[in-house]
Formats: sequence, structure tokens, C-alpha cells
Amino acid sequence: MNWQKNLKIKNNHPLKDKTTIRIGGTARFFCEPRDLKELKMLIFWAKKGNIPVFVLGAGSNLLISDRGVKGLVLRLSSAFFTSIELKGNSVEAGSGVKLAKLIRFSLDNSLTGLEFLSGIPGTLGGGIMMNAGCWGRDIAGIISQVKVIDLNGHIKTLKREEISFDYRKSNLGRYIILKARMRLKKSVKGFIENNIRDYLLKRRHSQDLTFCNAGCIFKNPKLESAGKLIELCKLKGKRIGEAFISPKHANFILNNGNAKSEDVLKLINLMKKRVKNKFNIALEPEIKLWR
Ligand SMILES: Cc1cc2nc3c(=O)[nH]c(=O)nc-3n(C[C@H](O)[C@H](O)[C@H](O)COP(=O)(O)OP(=O)(O)OC[C@H]3O[C@@H](n4cnc5c(N)ncnc54)[C@H](O)[C@@H]3O)c2cc1C
Repeated sequence: MNWQKNLKIKNNHPLKDKTTIRIGGTARFFCEPRDLKELKMLIFWAKKGNIPVFVLGAGSNLLISDRGVKGLVLRLSSAFFTSIELKGNSVEAGSGVKLAKLIRFSLDNSLTGLEFLSGIPGTLGGGIMMNAGCWGRDIAGIISQVKVIDLNGHIKTLKREEISFDYRKSNLGRYIILKARMRLKKSVKGFIENNIRDYLLKRRHSQDLTFCNAGCIFKNPKLESAGKLIELCKLKGKRIGEAFISPKHANFILNNGNAKSEDVLKLINLMKKRVKNKFNIALEPEIKLWR
């Protein structure tokens, strides 16, 4: 059909390079809609064909199976979904915008509040879905409203009070996030720049950025650090296939170049098993697994 051709739906499209860990097979269907009209058409097409829908942000919290994803993978990367607007002391942005770009925009407009997210390589949509955060703060603390669409094509704007956020999770799982508004504060550029520099420096000291990775594999259990527990199990540097546990930060799994999703999954299981045996603590994955 003509409209389908216009949407440029790709078949068996590679996803590996769309993730930060550089692992994964193909998407049965892949599309980057140009606007809301196209997104709606894709949602209806998938619904009619009973095709599961997956939303890909920057792929920085994902492990995709080497066997790929049997569904429609959508990436909201077009200009329509990555615009940023100033609304007084608030910023409203499309979900596909990278957090780094958002931080740059608020700096340019002398607005403070987003700096703690510096160095997180995700999009706004992924950040909201995961309630991304660090240094004791999370994105939930600055959101004032989120616009979403469900898989029946219904659009609504949810106020902050209508959304429940918890440590690295939200209750928005049945929606596609379209845009969000963040409440920031007026400040001076020098102060914001210093904050960004300090946060990036702190990150460089604590995280391992030498090889491709998907950030922290596990959530921190209450009052514990998952990385510390894994380290105490003497698993730093442990390698399976081409994947290995970071010698610097034990909650990171690094891709030596050609790691397979199976290698990473085996390491994940090993980390879980060893921590359970030694400390009787069940680690819960932070990363999302697509298979
Ligand atoms: C080096 C490194 C450091 C990191 N440091 C941190 C950190 O300090 N703190 C932290 O919290 N995280 C961290 N992360 C993890 C990751 O960057 C964050 O979780 C980020 O918010 C994920 O965003 P994303 O766009 O990459 O989402 P993706 O990985 O693409 O997707 C994650 C989930 O969000 C969903 N999603 C994405 N966009 C949308 C949308 N528009 N609508 C609906 N669902 C959507 C996906 O379907 C998936 O379920 C780090 C990762 C790396 C690689």
C-alpha cells in the first residue's frame, strides 16, 4: 500500500549500532516516524497486524537479543520529536531529544536543574521511562507534565501527580512518551557550567567508559551498592566470550568488541547467583532485555 511505503518501514533492520553496548540482532520492522500522524498510522498498523511495539531511545539501557526483536521498533528521532521550547522558566521537549542537548539548551537559557543528568547518554523519553538519576536525584524531581500516546492512539497529558515514579522505574510502561515539561530555575551561566563540569568529572572517576556498555546492569538493593556486592564476590574482570565485568566498576559489563547477548546474559546470571549465594540478596536488573 502507498501509505505504508511513505512511512518507510524497514524490514529486518539492524539494531546493534543503535545501542550503546553495540549488541543485538535486527528488528522485524523498524521505523522513525516524521510526526504524530505517522506515529498514529504505525500504531494502528501494528495493532491491526497484532505486532508488538517497542520504543527505542538512545539504547543506553538495553540489551537486545542477537536473535533480534519480533515486532515493530519505533525511534522518535525526527525533528518533530526532538524539538525543545522555552516556556518561562520551564523547558518543554520532545521525548527523542538527547539529555545532553537538553542540558546545553538550559545552559544557553541560564536555567538550572538538569545538570545532575550530565553524562547520562539517554533520551528524555528513556530517562522518564527509567526515572534516570544519579547523585541522589532523579528526573521525577523536575518533571511537571508528560504527554503520552497509548497503543490505541489516545493522547493525553499527565500531570506530575498522576505519574508514579520509583527508583529507576515509572508506571508509564503502557505508553509511548511524546514530550515532557520540566520545571527549572533561573540562574547564572557560570554556576550551571561549573555544575556540569563537576558532575562529569565525578562520573569519569566512578564509571568505566573505556568500552561499549549499557550503564549499570543491576539496581542497587536497599542500603547496598550492587557494584560493591559483585566486587566482594571477586568478579571484577570476569570474562565470558567477548563480554567482561569492568575491573573499575563491577556493576558494568563491557563489550570487548564482538560480545554476544548470550555472553552478557551468562555474566548477568553469574553475578546474580554469586551475590545470592554469598549475601542472600536477589539483584534486580536495571537494564531492559529485549528478546
Ligand atoms: C555510560 C552510561 C552511564 C549511565 N549512567 C546512568 C546514570 O547515572 N543514571 C541512570 O539512571 N542511568 C544511567 N545510564 C542508563 C541510561 O542511560 C538511562 O537509563 C537512560 O535514561 C536510558 O535512556 P535511553 O533513551 O537510552 O533509553 P533506551 O535504553 O533506549 O530505553 C530504555 C527503556 O525506555 C523505553 N523508552 C525509551 N524511549 C521511550 C519513549 N519515548 N516512550 C516510551 N518508552 C521509551 C524503552 O522502550 C526501554 O524500555 C547509563 C548508561 C550508560 C551507557
